[in-house]
Amino acid sequence: MNLSRRGFLKLSAAAALTTAFGGLGLAAKPQTAKAAIDRISQLKPEWSRETTSVCCFCAVGCGLIVNTALSGAKRALNVEGDPEHPTNEGALCPKGGSIWQLAESTPRQQKVMYRKPGGTRFEPKTWEWALNEIAKRVKRDRDAAFEVKNAKGQLVNRCENIAHVGSAALDNEECWALQAFMRSLGLTYIEHQARICHSSTVPALAESFGRGCMTNHWLDLKNSDVILMMGSNPAENHPISFKHVTRCKVAGGTLIHVDPRFSRTSAKVDIYAPLRSGTDIAFLGGMINYIMENDLAFKEYVVNYTNASFLVGPGYDFKDGMFSGFDPARRSYDRSKWAFALDAKGVPQRDNTLTNPRSVYQLLKKHYSRYTAKNVSDTTGTPLDKLLEVYKVYSSTGKPDKSGTVMYAMGWTQHTVGVQNIRAMAMVQLLLGNIGVAGGGVNALRGESNVQGATDHALLYNSLPGYLSVPTTTDATLADYLKRTTPVSHDPMSMNWWKNRPKYVASFLKAMYPQAEPGQAYDMLPKLEPGQDGSWLVLFDEMFKGRFKGCFVWGMNPAVGSANAGKTRQALAKLDWMVAVNLFDNESSSFWRGPGVDPAKVKTEVFLLPCATSIEKEGSVTNSGRWMQWRVPGPQPLGESRPDGEIMHQLAQKLQELYKKEGGPFPDALLGLNWAGMTEKGGYSAQATARLINGAYTRDVTVKNPDGTEKTFKAGEQVQSFAALRDDGSTTSGNWIYCGSYVKSDPSGNLGMRHNRSQTPEQAKIALFPNWTWAWPVNRRIMYNRASVDPTGKAYAPQKPVLAWDGKAWSIDVVDGGGAPGSVHPFIMNTHGLGQIYTPGLVDGPFPEHYEPMDCPVASQVFSSVLNTPTVLKFAGEDHSQADPRFPLVCTTYRVTEHWQTGAMTRRMAWLVEAEPQMFCELSEELAAEKGIKNGDKIWVESIRGKLWAIAMVTKRFKPMTVQGKTMHQVGLPWQYGWNAPQNGGDAANLLSPSVGDPNTGIPETKAFMVNVSKA
Ligand code: SF4
Repeated sequence: MNLSRRGFLKLSAAAALTTAFGGLGLAAKPQTAKAAIDRISQLKPEWSRETTSVCCFCAVGCGLIVNTALSGAKRALNVEGDPEHPTNEGALCPKGGSIWQLAESTPRQQKVMYRKPGGTRFEPKTWEWALNEIAKRVKRDRDAAFEVKNAKGQLVNRCENIAHVGSAALDNEECWALQAFMRSLGLTYIEHQARICHSSTVPALAESFGRGCMTNHWLDLKNSDVILMMGSNPAENHPISFKHVTRCKVAGGTLIHVDPRFSRTSAKVDIYAPLRSGTDIAFLGGMINYIMENDLAFKEYVVNYTNASFLVGPGYDFKDGMFSGFDPARRSYDRSKWAFALDAKGVPQRDNTLTNPRSVYQLLKKHYSRYTAKNVSDTTGTPLDKLLEVYKVYSSTGKPDKSGTVMYAMGWTQHTVGVQNIRAMAMVQLLLGNIGVAGGGVNALRGESNVQGATDHALLYNSLPGYLSVPTTTDATLADYLKRTTPVSHDPMSMNWWKNRPKYVASFLKAMYPQAEPGQAYDMLPKLEPGQDGSWLVLFDEMFKGRFKGCFVWGMNPAVGSANAGKTRQALAKLDWMVAVNLFDNESSSFWRGPGVDPAKVKTEVFLLPCATSIEKEGSVTNSGRWMQWRVPGPQPLGESRPDGEIMHQLAQKLQELYKKEGGPFPDALLGLNWAGMTEKGGYSAQATARLINGAYTRDVTVKNPDGTEKTFKAGEQVQSFAALRDDGSTTSGNWIYCGSYVKSDPSGNLGMRHNRSQTPEQAKIALFPNWTWAWPVNRRIMYNRASVDPTGKAYAPQKPVLAWDGKAWSIDVVDGGGAPGSVHPFIMNTHGLGQIYTPGLVDGPFPEHYEPMDCPVASQVFSSVLNTPTVLKFAGEDHSQADPRFPLVCTTYRVTEHWQTGAMTRRMAWLVEAEPQMFCELSEELAAEKGIKNGDKIWVESIRGKLWAIAMVTKRFKPMTVQGKTMHQVGLPWQYGWNAPQNGGDAANLLSPSVGDPNTGIPETKAFMVNVSKA
């Protein structure tokens, strides 16, 4: 049936009514049924205005249609899936389907609230009062501690007694404005959700392929021959993505799920294999060994497109779990020992026969020869037959015309070996030739609607927008910084794209401080000390130790979402003031009245500022597949709530007024920040900020075309692509990777707003929608696609080509790097131009090695005598349970479909709470029998760090496993509950998890720790 959208709407309206009365009317509680009927009875499209938006929950990025009343209170009447959106095609999961309730029928904060020191309640205040008071506190504390120079006399311009966390819940433009605002104050402690959910993805994928993001996109899943879902549960956590997984299966693909728990994803796959949480490297190391032993790698691809042929220098070695170059005193490696052997020109030496014992290929083979199926099974608990079945089926994709992909999420990222978990799979994919091709890739499933964008725009202590590193005190000048951070390649085939870094840095600095030349603007940025760590766990440890006077908690709930939540809650009590910006009061804004806390003893002032929902404001969000998708505002912000962009701009204005009036240390950055570029008619503007992020010419610029002709770009004209950015201050670009997203000076140039489904037949074949919104970089939809063709330009998989070369130009997708086939290496962001099976760039080793989680059930392991990763991030005074009989059960955490992240929004939504009302603990029938626990019993779950109650869910989904010859049990907890709402809903699973982190990024190990259970 071919339906227009209008026709579809008529049909779906009828269907919705039927569902509402037939489904909810019978089964749901009266409250739900009445709400649904009331809503539908108000649905009179002729009275309403229709706008499009994007779901505010996960990063599948489903499209929405919002109908807003044109009269009365002008509130949203209905929110539904957009049938024209290529990803969701009108469908929404329970969360997306409840967005109307979130906006219109929940106890949202509608007023500014204030809690005074020692106070027992919040009291309402005006915006004017709150913004003035916050500005006074920021100024007081900043002025008291601002450092212009450090003890060595180096320029630092920083403020380290105020911290900021958040937020992936903001739009891209707000994220950019917020990082600019915080940096203009000199803050260095800036973090957000990405650190604790996907920070391990960025270095793992960037070291392997060049960029730290999902390689392909949701629609591409249908092109796979085999999908391996490991460390993820997409059927429940990214539900609409499963539409495309299902299409793969319908087309004859094979689905595999490897997970500690049998879930709704497992129920739909061809092969399910259990594993012990925290043993993924052992599992994937075994797969590498299987590929090498059985000679299943795609050799032509491996030789031409990866660094398998590179020779490694004599400094590299590996013995009994340790790489060469370890300094026990500093618990760190000297990575220079792992360098490649270079020829006289400085290019890595190669052996294309792959037989040299110092070649990456042979070192890889040797390293993983220890990962025999038996050793792996003994470690992971995966039955041997399942292990071999997964290896056999997945490695069948190592043929030119086959592709396999992986979908992973927190199950891989949140470990002390999180980066290396992902690296291990990246190496598998390079061996099998699965990168750059349709149906291939390493697909990081981002969990928040704009966690990709918030990472791109650098609400992180260690990066500037576009993955430019934050300067350190040793980089005295811009030239010093660029010299240290700009890579050099002597290989004429390597594009070494990061050689362009000076253009991107200069354009960023001009976007921040248009009145200054780039070198002066560089001086205004706050500087870190070399090696300084300001990542999430360190930030909260510093807060716990009393470093910070104040903290912004913007669109976040660390009292639930942070590892070792008990410590986090105590840390919040050490603050003098906290600014919480959110839709609802949550466990963080109300930490002072949480369980076991006496409000009278908590000095922290709390300012709770109400913000608008996603459908009430304008701006873009970037989904997991890098599509920058624009939200058009529907209803006005409810009550006195305001868009986040407005809040940050108004607060910045208050601070500017104070500094102009009273003076203070180094006001230049705050006063010189480019608010003019982020505002229109005196107020914050998402469109203006998006234009600034793209960038424009600051003066007339004449460039020579390749054919010798000249073209002049006028001052103020938008830059068309990052290839045109310049290093001399003549261009701005807030974030170079978004350059090309806003190509005219009015919204018609905003490509994120495009809703155009047109595509060529070749694009249709692989589900590319190049005219639907815009994807970074340069609207490329499949990253590293140059590796999908051989050096003559012929597609390896002619039945699903990503690129076609007609002798003059490339078509289908936007090619990585220009020029003729075979003229450049395909991984253009990597210095040497090739996919990195071996990398000297990570702090914990060039190859992934199995180490146990810091809380673990065993005292020793089979692969070496080193139990835990030697460079782990840990904190003095915190204990870990290792083979501790008091805590014999491996615990893992996860989400449920109906709740989102810390539950701060969804636990306020009756439709969702009715489905998932309470904290539970899943445990096997065998463990339940051993402990005398019945399904539905209230039980205690306890770790070395804390204790909480949960309702026992006795299930077949967990099974006992055999690890090192002994029976071992696993249990599982959703991490989304908190004491604040709903009543008797339980508390946060993170009260039990440890504050230990991956040494590369500091991501906490919240997916594997040891507990015990007992009947309450
Ligand atoms: S939560 Fe994710 S899958 Fe569900 S509707 Fe929203 S974007 Fe789509």
